[in-house]
Amino acid sequence: MSVTHAARDTHAAHATRVAAYAAPAAKAPLERTTITRRPVGAHDVLIDIKYSGICHSDIHQVRDGWGEGIYPMVPGHEIAGVVSEVGPAVTRFSVGDRVGVGCFVDSCRTCAYCLRGQEQYCAEGMTGTYNALDRNGDPTYGGYSTHLVVDEKYTVRIPDGLALDVAAPLLCAGITLYSPLKHWQAGPGKQVAVVGLGGLGHIGVKIAHALGAEVTVLSQTLRKKEDGLKLGASHFYATGDEATFEELAGRFDLILSTVSAPLGLDAYLGLLKVDGALVNVGAPEEPVALNLFSVIGGRKTLAGSMIGGIAETQEMLDFCAEHGLGAEIELIAAGQINEAYERVLASDVRYRFVIDASTI
Ligand SMILES: [Zn+2]
Ligand SMILES: [Zn+2]
Repeated sequence: MSVTHAARDTHAAHATRVAAYAAPAAKAPLERTTITRRPVGAHDVLIDIKYSGICHSDIHQVRDGWGEGIYPMVPGHEIAGVVSEVGPAVTRFSVGDRVGVGCFVDSCRTCAYCLRGQEQYCAEGMTGTYNALDRNGDPTYGGYSTHLVVDEKYTVRIPDGLALDVAAPLLCAGITLYSPLKHWQAGPGKQVAVVGLGGLGHIGVKIAHALGAEVTVLSQTLRKKEDGLKLGASHFYATGDEATFEELAGRFDLILSTVSAPLGLDAYLGLLKVDGALVNVGAPEEPVALNLFSVIGGRKTLAGSMIGGIAETQEMLDFCAEHGLGAEIELIAAGQINEAYERVLASDVRYRFVIDASTI
């Protein structure tokens, strides 16, 4: 793992070539390469990446499921590492600090959403950690790499109680679930259902349980029932069984759907209490049908939610450390990324792949 300063750069801060795994073109397998990281600016930290989670959206983007991708593409927005250099104006971090970076590395910083800590909904659009253009026009490269340079404003602290490998997936999967659980006030006395027990869902079960809610997993089959109960669910139902929808009618205050397969929205809305909310954090690529009477009767809410802001991501990490929560992971070497992608697509992972960056 070596950083070589660009040969002809005579400034104090150097752009650096670092190792990474990239997809050279849409749908191409990932391969080892080198990329340029920008010089460490006044407000930047240089992070020695230790671990990087594999998110389902990495696969979507590499395979161009969401439109035009920027190639070569270095995916990864579940990044955990250690600060190895700080710019002169950095105030919140020091060399040796354990830190994380999630789904975005910048935003406009001036719109109403940025000012209230909802940078993920920035009016000008957040700058994605990869597959995006930085404010200076350079492509961003993600966490499947040995090093990352990022503004301290978009960096969060990983508390000492949280191991870096199990913390990495919290930077996307963790905050994706934590934010709606907090927004819709999951807690004691609340009935919360999590649809799908995968990379997102398993963390949702843990966090919802730690918040004090009574948690139910709704999964296609009962195959993962034992895991679900171990993770903190009190109940586990198979959605493949029609009787489930009769038995659970009107049961929940909040349902979080983590699945990207099209849901029968009317059936799930039927499981809500009056004023309940069905919140989608997974999204199918095609539009889905809805009978509006499913929300009119019972004043129900059909909503979506996307990751969380920087302050809320920090709050989530502190909460997870306090409750001893991390992701359930399978640690892999970088050479196994392509194989891991196939296994994610086959739902054959318990529950998140994490790349050991020392193998890149
Ligand atoms: Zn993600
Ligand atoms: Zn903004």
